[in-house]
Amino acid sequence: MPSKKRSAGDYIDARCTRCRVVTNHTIIAMVGDQVVRVQCNTCGGMHNYHAPKAERPAGEVKTRAAAAPKASKEAKSALSKAVLLEQAQWQDASRDADPASAIPYRMDAVFKVKNWVNHPTFGFGLVLAVAGNKVEILFQEGKKLLRCQG
Ligand SMILES: [Zn+2]
Repeated sequence: MPSKKRSAGDYIDARCTRCRVVTNHTIIAMVGDQVVRVQCNTCGGMHNYHAPKAERPAGEVKTRAAAAPKASKEAKSALSKAVLLEQAQWQDASRDADPASAIPYRMDAVFKVKNWVNHPTFGFGLVLAVAGNKVEILFQEGKKLLRCQG
């Protein structure tokens, strides 16, 4: 359906800042295709154009997503960014690795930095650090801190 081009002087539905409802307005000013200023045909008040709220009876999901706290969303994306970085690190490191040299992962194994290990769950991993009875290993899915004998 070809939409009729609006121009100043046309009638348009808009939210009136004074009536606080959607009323019929007359377009006063436009910038390009955008209506910028309107006059309410009910109260005669002139104000910037506010589009009538789009009705979306099926918009529940969208509303809920928008209501989610922004901070946690950002934290989540920062976290996944770190994981992506670790995964890239693993890709890089595994290029020169020899899977045959990997040590089968066991709690009582002795690990050294830069050893490759073969973990039953996480697969091949590169030992990044050994501290006490903890060993930090870079796996394909990201870094893990695992217990070891030390
Ligand atoms: Zn009004």
